Amino acid sequence: MTLVRDGIPSAPGIVIARARVLRWEVPRVPHGATVAPAQVEGEVERFREACDFAKGRIRDLQARTAESMGPVEAQIFEPQVLMLEDADLVEGTIAYIRESHLTAERAFEWRVLEWESALSHTSHPMVLDRLNDLADVQTRVLRRLMNLPDPELGSRDQGQVILIARELTPSLTVQLDRRHVVGLATDKGTRTSHSSILARSLDIPCVVALGDLSEQVRDGDEIILDGRTGRVIVAPSEEDKRAYRERDFQVREWEQELVLLAHLPAETRDGARVALLSNIDLPGEADSARTHGAEGVGLYRTEFLVVGRGTAPGEEEQFRAYRQVVQAFPGMPVVIRTFDLGGDKFPAFLHMAPEENPFLGWRAIRVCLDEPVMFKTQLRALLRTLRFGDVRIMLPLINDVDEITDTRALMEECAAELRAEGHELPGSYSLGAMIETPAAAISAAELARHVDFFSVGTNDLVQYTLAVDRGNSRLARRYNPFHPGVVRLLDQVARAGRKAGIHVSVCGELAATPLGAFMLIGMGVTSLSVGPAALAEIKKVIRSVRHEDAARAAGLALEAGTPDEVVHALTEELRKVLDLTKFAGPWSLSAPA
Ligand code: PEP
Ligand code: MG
Repeated sequence: MTLVRDGIPSAPGIVIARARVLRWEVPRVPHGATVAPAQVEGEVERFREACDFAKGRIRDLQARTAESMGPVEAQIFEPQVLMLEDADLVEGTIAYIRESHLTAERAFEWRVLEWESALSHTSHPMVLDRLNDLADVQTRVLRRLMNLPDPELGSRDQGQVILIARELTPSLTVQLDRRHVVGLATDKGTRTSHSSILARSLDIPCVVALGDLSEQVRDGDEIILDGRTGRVIVAPSEEDKRAYRERDFQVREWEQELVLLAHLPAETRDGARVALLSNIDLPGEADSARTHGAEGVGLYRTEFLVVGRGTAPGEEEQFRAYRQVVQAFPGMPVVIRTFDLGGDKFPAFLHMAPEENPFLGWRAIRVCLDEPVMFKTQLRALLRTLRFGDVRIMLPLINDVDEITDTRALMEECAAELRAEGHELPGSYSLGAMIETPAAAISAAELARHVDFFSVGTNDLVQYTLAVDRGNSRLARRYNPFHPGVVRLLDQVARAGRKAGIHVSVCGELAATPLGAFMLIGMGVTSLSVGPAALAEIKKVIRSVRHEDAARAAGLALEAGTPDEVVHALTEELRKVLDLTKFAGPWSLSAPA
């Protein structure tokens, strides 16, 4: 029986292959869990050896990852190493062995259970990542203690496979051989989870958050995986396979066509220039953005430097990570966003208490202004990169003028310190605000007087305007960026920016959809920033339309009373010049998945 599941698309690409179900699960500890007093020290020794072994394996993987992907990506193993060095976990286990005469396996299992229950009082994705790390550590140590082999990722003689797992831990993901594993599908996972980020870096089509898929699939089942739309089909019909082969063929042909656009200007048919920039989550993505024709970086997210880290990154490390991207775009703008922590990103070193409503809580600029030591370190690193290119600094989740002026004051302090230390700094810098809340959009005219540019974060603006959690798959249908309320706010921001004479860019996912890009161009937005994979498609949209037509369609969208009417107004116009079915899938026509 054919089974169709929709999850979160996490790395694009269409593949049809056999399933390989991976069970990298915590092994069951055998009964008979105590030892004679004389064996106690032997158990302690065994446990220490297993911890050392596990640490060695993780260090190996870390070194391999550093070599194949880069030092930043290799940092994802740090939390696991820290866990294996954590006195509470290690000495706590040893205490159980000594006091209760438990076997090493049982004692460790108990201690980990206690950690798990302490961690699991919240459902934040970052905490889930920690639980994931803990499960990885537990599996590794227990497998060593129980003399079980390392997990089998499947040998090459099985041919190409789509790997199905409950959750892919980072250590498993980096062992994946791209020639053999052509797709990934996991029951759990979020857009920001480690494995999603790694799958994107490895360029393996991936879909996460698929419910209990790994229990429904058997080794060898045939699977279609569409990493562009998030759909997985188990045991597809001949008809399904034909349709997806056709779709894959079209996508590839389309991609070939798009490649040719990379170095043509992003300009409408009637000569209006739109700056087409790239969003970057990791410094390593800069190359891909360049190859796909980005004219700069419109959003460089800096959270990779802090998430999953036991200690805050120093100024020097940050400086190098920022400069790397700035130097990859000589003479082009690079907009670097200050830390957007909180919400779903919790670095361990901030010791943030779990909150009832993290997305309405201590987040983004609020965290930075309340943690001036951390913020100043970042601002100093950013200021030092100014002389290497056209660097612009951007603040997330701005609501009030005060947040901008307080940041400016801190920047002035940092600049004075740096000059006193002998650093050369230019006399001025460009500071922008992200417009991500209805409050900011409505008061855009006021905010515009205090910044040099706006960048609209539609991912958050939609969530806060509609009061629909952007990460809740149950609400995905209701998360609609074409809601008239959102459309009117966007227009208001574009107008306020124009009136104040500052640039208005859009860096949320809406800009990466054909209809969204079309509408935003029509509203007079002068720059769009999208992920490297969407650059070519959006360039195609820009080059296919006339600004005049986009403006008329945006006008109709603004008058529409329902999301469907907005979509209809835009589609009618865009369809005249573009075959929309060629674009990445139904999500690109309406809300991003
Ligand atoms: C946004 O909110 O649209 C945005 C670009 O920022 P992030 O997705 O990192 O919250
Ligand atoms: Mg945001």
